[in-house]
Order: sequence, then structure tokens, then C-alpha cells
Amino acid sequence: MSDSQRLRFWGVRGSIPSPGPDTVRYGGNTSCVTLEAAGIAGGVDGKPGLIVFDAGSGLRLLGMHLLREKLLPVWAHLFLTHTHWDHIQGFHFFVPALIPGNHVSIFGNAEGEGDVAGALEGQMVHRYFPIGLRQMAAKLEFHHLDYGEHQVAGVHVTVAPLNHSSATVGYRVETAGRSVAYLTDAEPRRVNDANVIDPVMLGLAAGADVLIHDAQYTDEEYPGKIGWGHSPLSYVVDFAMQAGVKRLVLFHHDPMSTDTRLDALLKTARERAAAAGARLEIDAAYEGLQIELPGNAQRDRKRALQEPAASVAAS
Ligand SMILES: [Zn+2]
Ligand SMILES: [Zn+2]
Repeated sequence: MSDSQRLRFWGVRGSIPSPGPDTVRYGGNTSCVTLEAAGIAGGVDGKPGLIVFDAGSGLRLLGMHLLREKLLPVWAHLFLTHTHWDHIQGFHFFVPALIPGNHVSIFGNAEGEGDVAGALEGQMVHRYFPIGLRQMAAKLEFHHLDYGEHQVAGVHVTVAPLNHSSATVGYRVETAGRSVAYLTDAEPRRVNDANVIDPVMLGLAAGADVLIHDAQYTDEEYPGKIGWGHSPLSYVVDFAMQAGVKRLVLFHHDPMSTDTRLDALLKTARERAAAAGARLEIDAAYEGLQIELPGNAQRDRKRALQEPAASVAAS
């Protein structure tokens, strides 16, 4: 795949899986997105490395895909935003984690809510599930990530807190001159009863090639859901425009959002960006959506040239 990258969406829904005749086109599985790129650690025999954002029920589909396409053994780098059920409930259905020879590195920051390993282990105790965490046959590793910048999994990763109803982080991953920001389960700050953009969340998304952002509510329903940890549509479009991202993907759809309603939400979002004169591409995530990102080695060179200059200026 040279230095190009691919994002794939395996689960796009929030809160609880919601299969049924009204959610066929966008899908009913909960949060799971992958980023494949040559720069990610673990890619062997010409295969790209694999980053997985969240372990919602969509993770099961990824596991089946890896088996079916004979892409095992795999080293998956799983970045968890938080441990609400819709982000971890697919973990024990990820078949490669049950097969020896595979490797799953789990990253997270559940500051104040107990550790990530404890949450995964807790949902697998015998009364809930017949196989325990320690019986999973793949090599599992857990890593706490502090807020800030890291070089992990072969890529540059930035971690920052999001405004949600429990400890939650967003991620920005940069490799081969491209950046992807994953901010789900986030809502605006409120000042004097108005939605305000948080500068930390904005910084995480600034200038990203692709921003995947929570867009669970319409503007009309948000006033009744303030504090639930999810964003209204207009705020998300404004956030993306202010961050100067190239492409926005609306994500973490409400279980009540039918295919028809999501079509309408997408249309409204595009109209808002167009009315503001923004050159912003907008999609609504659906299961199976793939976004190809060609490598941008030129941007890497520019960054390499800028960094020494910045350090001279700082000294
Ligand atoms: Zn969620
Ligand atoms: Zn949540």
C-alpha cells in the first residue's frame, strides 16, 4: 500500500447496537474504526500495520474480516477512548485475540475511573461471559497513555481529554504526512447557556486531513440532552470549520437515528458548511465506509525542516 493509508468503519453507532430494517444502510454496530498504514508497527510480508479505534460491537466484524482474508497473524494496536459499554463490548468477540500468535496492544487513559484492563476483565467475569480475559490466547499488553504527545505503534499520537460524562480521551494519529483525529463521545463546553468550543479539543483536531466526530443529536434535541456527553449537529460542523479540517465524518449515531434521518442530518450539515463558504467535505459514517489517504511525504519534509528552526528560536 506504499505510504498511503486507509480508514475503515466497522461500527458507527453510539450507546447500544441497533440493528433492524431502519438502520440497514448506515449499520447498527457500535464504535470501531481502523487505520491501516505502512508506518504502523507490525505490518509484515507487505501487509500494512493496523490501528483500531475503540472496541464496540463493530470489532467483531474486523476480526471476521482478518480471518476470512487470511490476514493473521496480526498485531493490532487498540486505542480505547473510554470504557463505556458501547466502546468495549466487542472486545471479547474479536476472534484473533483468542488465537495464539496474534498480538493486541491496548492503549487508554481512564483516569479516575479505574484502569482499562480492569474494565475489560470485569465484563468477562464468568457470570457475564464464559471466557476470562486471562484465557485469551493472543499476546495482550496494556499501556496507559498520559495526555500529550507520544511515539507509539510506529506513529505520532496525541492524547487529550474530551468533555464527556466519564473520563474519555480523543486521539490524533499522524503518519506519512497525514493526520486523523478521532473525537467521539464529546460535547461542547457550556458558558452562559451557550455552546463553546473547547481549545484543547480544537487543538487535537486542528488542520487534520480527517476528523471523525461525535454527532449524535440534532440541534432541536440537544437542549434536552445537555451533559449526556454528545454533540449537536451545528456545533460539530462549526467545530470542524474552525479547526480547519479537510474532511469531517459524522459519527456515533443515535440508536434512534434511522437511515432516512441520517440522510437528512448529512444534508443539513453540508448545507451549513456551504452557507459558510467552507471547503469542507462531510460524510456520515456507515459500516463499510473506506477513506483512502494518499501519502504526503512533502509535508513530512516540511515538518522536518521546520522542527530544527523552531528549536533554535526557542533556545
Ligand atoms: Zn459511546
Ligand atoms: Zn460514552
